[in-house]
Amino acid sequence: MNNVTIGILALQGSVIEHRSRLEQIAGVTVVEVKKTEEIDRVDGIILPGGESTTIGKLLREFGLFAPLKARIEAGMPVWGTCAGLILLAKEIVNEPAPHLAVMDIAVRRNAYGSQLDSFATRAAIPEVAKEEIPLVFIRAPWIERVGQDVTVLCRVDGQIVAARQGNMLATSFHPELTADLSFHGYFVNMVQESRGN
Ligand code: GLN
Repeated sequence: MNNVTIGILALQGSVIEHRSRLEQIAGVTVVEVKKTEEIDRVDGIILPGGESTTIGKLLREFGLFAPLKARIEAGMPVWGTCAGLILLAKEIVNEPAPHLAVMDIAVRRNAYGSQLDSFATRAAIPEVAKEEIPLVFIRAPWIERVGQDVTVLCRVDGQIVAARQGNMLATSFHPELTADLSFHGYFVNMVQESRGN
């Protein structure tokens, strides 16, 4: 298996946790992305959880917004977790404007409200893992609508919480906060396949 270089957008949010999960997978070099040159070096990128408004603002301030959007539109694999999912969405139903607007999903920020702010559950996601895996939600969004090219990977209580459209993967929850490596492995495979390995 050939090596791949995976970036983690490192402006704000759960960067260290993603790094430590990726470092447990053979053949992966991790780059923390803060500059445009770093976007050019990676074969795929993770947009971590954090605060989508802040990350969206920093993307523009650091000059990363346009080059990142261009590479995603050119087919570079991307995985958005939680705030990262919000950044990818073409529509945020409870915000005036989207951010990168690359993935054909409509999302609701902080969808679970204050009562269920953070919670953990388990679900079977056959596309990603053979066994049920733990899902950790923290002030999470959910996906309210998906376009016809989007595959729903997981629903929890009827709400869509994971989806894929081509080389774009989006999860409302945080696999990097659990010991389970299935989603990181799945994304590494996406990156390897996109490089023809
Ligand atoms: N509530 C955050 C937002 O709307 C996302 C939370 C997270 O990434 N854990 O951006």
